[in-house]
Order: sequence, then C-alpha cells, then structure tokens
Amino acid sequence: MEFKKNQEILLTIEDFTREGEGLGKYQGFPFFVKDTVIGDKARVSITKLKKNYGYARLVNIMEPSPDRVEAPCPVARQCGGCKIQQLSYEKQLEFKWNQVANCMKRIGGFSGIEDLMEPVYGMDVPWHFRNKAQFPVGTDKKGNPVAGFYAGRTHSIIPNTSCLIQAEVNQEILEIILAYMKRNHIPAYDEKNHSGLVRHVLTRLGFVTGQVMVCLILNGSPGRLTHVKELTEALQRIDGMTSIMANINTAKTNKILGSQCVTLWGKDYIEDYIGEIRYRISPLSFFQVNPGQTRVLYGKALEYAGLTGGETVWDLYCGIGTISLFLAQKAGQVYGVEIIPEAIEDARRNAKLNHMDNVTFYVGKAEEILPREYGRGCGDAVDNLKNHPDVIVVDPPRKGCDEVLLNTMLAMGPDRIVYVSCDPGTLARDCRILCRKDYEIKKMAVVDQFGHSCHVESVVLMSRIK
Ligand code: SAH
Repeated sequence: MEFKKNQEILLTIEDFTREGEGLGKYQGFPFFVKDTVIGDKARVSITKLKKNYGYARLVNIMEPSPDRVEAPCPVARQCGGCKIQQLSYEKQLEFKWNQVANCMKRIGGFSGIEDLMEPVYGMDVPWHFRNKAQFPVGTDKKGNPVAGFYAGRTHSIIPNTSCLIQAEVNQEILEIILAYMKRNHIPAYDEKNHSGLVRHVLTRLGFVTGQVMVCLILNGSPGRLTHVKELTEALQRIDGMTSIMANINTAKTNKILGSQCVTLWGKDYIEDYIGEIRYRISPLSFFQVNPGQTRVLYGKALEYAGLTGGETVWDLYCGIGTISLFLAQKAGQVYGVEIIPEAIEDARRNAKLNHMDNVTFYVGKAEEILPREYGRGCGDAVDNLKNHPDVIVVDPPRKGCDEVLLNTMLAMGPDRIVYVSCDPGTLARDCRILCRKDYEIKKMAVVDQFGHSCHVESVVLMSRIK
C-alpha cells in the first residue's frame, strides 16, 4: 500500500503511547495521532511518513470513544501544555496506573505486581492545581501585548490568561500587566530580533498561606518599566499579594529566568507549607508545583519509611529538602544529598526555618557522596548508624539512579528502601537491580501530580528479606 502526505484515511485508535498519542493501524501500517484516545474512530490526515510507521493529524472524530470527553479548555488542542484533556480524568488515572504496572512487569520482571499496587491517588478536583506559572509575553497582529502559552513544539504564543490548571488569580494578574503595558507602551519581548522588554510573567502562589508572588522577566533593566508604581499599586490590590519582582534575562536563550532578581514591591519571597513544614520560595527556588498532591506523595514516602522516632535515614536527590524535612519530623537523623548547591542552601535555610537540627545536607553527586561517606567510616557509633541506616529514600530525575549508587545502597543494607520516581521505565530498571537478591517489593503507589499531562509519579517500598 502506498501512502501520500495529506492523504485522508479512517482509523480506529487501538493504543495510547506514553506521550499520550493515539495509535491506529491502516491496513496494518501504524499511525500516531495526537488528540485521539483509544476507541475513537477518526478521520485523519497523514502528516509524515517513515519506513515502518507514520504520523497523522486528527481531522474529525467519526465515532467518539466512550472514554472521550470534551476538553474543557478551548485551546487544549493548540496549547503545548495539556496533552490528554480529551481523555476523562478517571481514564487518565487508569492509563498512568497501567503504565507503571506494565513497566514493572516488562522492564522490571515483576510479575503479579498489580497485587502490590495501591489504587491510584488522583486529585479530587483536577483543575487549578498548579502553584507556579510562567507565561510568555508577546505582541499580536494588531500590536497589542498578549500572554499565554506556547503551542506544541513551537514558540508561537497561544493567548490565554485563564489557564484551567493554573491558579485562578493568574487571570487578574495578567490582565493588570497587559493593560499596564498597553497604556504605557512597554514593549513585549520579540524573540526573533531579541528586542523589546517583557519576556515572561512568572507567578507563584502559596496554597496554604495565600501569598502571591509576581515576577516580570525582562530583557533589560527594570528602570525601563516606566510608571512602574502604577503597575505595583494595581497588583497590590490583589488578595494576598506579597512580592512583586523583576528578573533580568538579557541572554538569547530558551532559559526563562536570568540569575539576577530585583524587588519592585514587598518581600523578595513568599512562604508556603507542605503538611506541617514551612518553605520559603523565591523566584529562582525550585518548589513542587502541585502542593496538594506533593503532600500525598511525600506522605506515602513517609508512611513507607515506617519511622518511629529514632531511625537514621538517607534522602538522596533531596533537592531543597522537601522529603528530608518531612522525614526529619519522625526520624532520629536524616542525611540529604543533592547536586545543585543553591538547592542545598534552600534546604539548609528551610531546616532552620522549621527549627530542625537533625538534618545534615551534602552537596554533590549521590553516586559519589554516598560511597565516599560509606567508605570513610571511623567506626564510632554515629558512623555505624550512618553507614548502616534504617531507611534510604531516593527521588532521582528521569534517568534514574547510577548503578554505583544502587550497589552502595545494597552494601549499606538498610531495612527499607523507598524509591520515589517520575519515570516508571527507569524505576522498573532500578528496582530490578535492587531486588536481585536481598530486597523485595512490598508496596507501591501511583500519585497523580500533573493531571492532563502524561507525567507519572510513583513510590515503591522495598524491604530487606529477613
Ligand atoms: N526530592 C526533591 C526533588 C527531587 S528532583 C524535592 O522534593 O524537592 C531530583 C533532584 O535530583 C533534583 O533536585 C536534581 O538537581 C538532583 N540531581 C540530579 N542528578 C543528581 C545526582 N547525580 N546526585 C544528586 N542529585 C542529583
């Protein structure tokens, strides 16, 4: 069968990829189609052909899948943010749970894993759950400033001030900023010519404290924001406004933030809580973006760690110490390791803020620090606990753990290993190594942090076989 670009064909979608694209076969030849879900019968137009598969664009749905819903966001298809809004939230959760189960079976070799998996933890209301937004700012054809999100795989801005997964307060913030820019002829950044001033608007909200931060990312000095008082006074009228900042980024780069921040009004940080722990958040700090579900995920990690008060715990890939401080509430001593020095500065400051003195942080690669500390032992009692902890927690980036690290963990022989993961593939690969001999999986949970996207977060408890 010969296919041509732009040819229209009818497909029944039979599968869903990890990136949230539907997969259907036409006379045995597979096509990937964005915006479709399993069970759709759809007319699609071929966009790209490879030797053994192709891509196609959805033209129209002939017969919708029972799992399909009308995406509540009017720009869901164009926007590069949400990928699977057209799938009911219940089915999204099922898709994520199944993905973890499949990886654990296929890559990890854990047959019967379903019996050890808790039911998926989804959000009660999967909207307005994010506490951080970064809106690119540009100019429309009429010359008006606009803000929104990038279309998928491009830098063209889809204007949208009322994103459904962001905090509702963003709409008011953006409208104030856009009106101010228009009135005072403040130019939006133009990526092509590297000209103009306002590149992005960053907002952060403390879900528990109600504190709001606004940060304008500028291609130049904040002195170029004329009539800035007019702007800060309008923004101050928003409930909870705590910090209005500018960040300077004059580089020709896709990186959103520069390294320098200037306070325009109020504090240079906001604060928020996850559980009982208080965190200070500045424009440049990393902080989990879905605080409600982070509490659920880290609550699970804490539950799986099984702490009773006196334990020694390592928290590897600790970031700003979110999990470390959570664990320190119930442990004797916690050791955290993280590669980014600024994150460790935040972690130490957050420990102080919460009056916790049973946490020690190390800067460096987990796969270097842990073997070094383990090998360094001088044999005293503290050292012995540090070398043979009760629990090791890991929360690595997508690529998972280094094998040197996994082998050191095994040599240290903790009673329990708690693995928090944002990639079920590398999770399964690493669990397979950890469970070769002395450890077995006891329990696992999938906790949805990023509704309408394909990101999957999970946590596994492994115990030493007695
Ligand atoms: N648990 C953290 C976030 C973990 S995200 C929190 O809740 O805040 C993964 C972290 O691993 C990131 O902070 C990243 O900077 C760090 N990281 C990446 N590679 C690392 C390595 N080889 N050793 C230690 N940390 C690393």
